[in-house]
Amino acid sequence: MLVFKFGGASVKDADGIINLARVVDGYKQQQLLIVVSAMGKTTNALEALTRAYVDGTQNMHALFEDIKQYHYNIMSELFEASHQVFDDVANTFVEIDWMIEEEPHDDYDFIYDQIVSIGELVSTRIVSAFLNLKELKNQWADARGLVHTDNTYREGKVIWDKTRESISKSIPQLLDKGFVVTQGFLGGTSENFTTTLGREGSDYTASIFASCLHAESVTIWKDVPGVLNADPKHFADTVKFDELSYNEAIEMTFYGATVIHPKTIKPLQNVNIPLLVKPFTDPDATGTIIAENIIPVFKKPVIILKQQQTLVSISAKDYSFIGENHLSDIFGRFAANQIKINTMQNSALSFSACVDHKEEWFDRLIAALSYNYRVRYNTGLSLLTVRHYGENTLKELTSGKTVLLEQFSRNTAQVVYK
Ligand code: ASP
Ligand code: MG
Repeated sequence: MLVFKFGGASVKDADGIINLARVVDGYKQQQLLIVVSAMGKTTNALEALTRAYVDGTQNMHALFEDIKQYHYNIMSELFEASHQVFDDVANTFVEIDWMIEEEPHDDYDFIYDQIVSIGELVSTRIVSAFLNLKELKNQWADARGLVHTDNTYREGKVIWDKTRESISKSIPQLLDKGFVVTQGFLGGTSENFTTTLGREGSDYTASIFASCLHAESVTIWKDVPGVLNADPKHFADTVKFDELSYNEAIEMTFYGATVIHPKTIKPLQNVNIPLLVKPFTDPDATGTIIAENIIPVFKKPVIILKQQQTLVSISAKDYSFIGENHLSDIFGRFAANQIKINTMQNSALSFSACVDHKEEWFDRLIAALSYNYRVRYNTGLSLLTVRHYGENTLKELTSGKTVLLEQFSRNTAQVVYK
């Protein structure tokens, strides 16, 4: 069997959904599970709605109205007004109506998941109904009863034993009857509350299902020809990789390449399921294959740019050396505030770490550190990671920039600049 994943950009309008149907039409003879994300920028819009609800802002109803209207407009292009899908979608949105009538629960992350998950529940209703209309017979499956997680809302940790059992028990019999359409990004707790797996987590969902079902492969359908050596939004003359090893792909996502969610590859690598990245506009194109035992050819270096970075420099208040005890304490504080260090450097008197600038957590971290250390920081920086770099690559990429930190290993160079 095969697993396909379609992200928000691929189903952002009626044409996208028509295109999805065209892509899967070529696989009618196969067992196929289709994972779908929320349509277009719906997750961002639902995030804004959650904020408005919790803050009690005026525009809450208007925000919700826009989200509904966006979906209804697309549906009117795809279905006759009398189609059952209109009721199904209305019944899904009504869950938000019920929620926002009440006073907000005091756990923000919990509320977030209950509201934001509606994006995937609605998109899959629409995709499933449209495929059935086009005689691409399929069953809609609720991922919340299949992907079991703990109750870390917004970052649900998968409980693999239970998930494997649920998926392997219920999905094969559905696949005997046709395609299966399910939601990316969602999970459920043992108390039947909805969780999400972290932003852009639908890729990870595809890999969870594939691993539990021993799929032949996973295909992520994207708006790019495959995995490129750099993000074409920031760099010209990008090249596509025909093949990559799991390890190289893991390294790329670790340093911030956004083409695949970082958690996607490991479950596939563990059971040796290849991951294909293909353009949804050209389903017959070969894209990129990520698998074991591939020695990729790097005609060009891999370039990964992370913006909105902050460089934090930490030194002891009494100007003593930064030793192992300090470091262990400092790392503990980053971890406790859920701040991932993107790159770091240590000298006798100070420790520097480059991190994503996340308002809510950042202030907490600085407060926690300032108690015992002298802390300085620089915001609005960029972190450039270059793998398989040549002598001139870095010079060219950073010419005219003020470099604040440089770090080199045999394969990877990192530069933080202004
Ligand atoms: N809809 C979710 C998000 O935008 C999950 C995903 O797209 O993978 O983060
Ligand atoms: Mg998305």
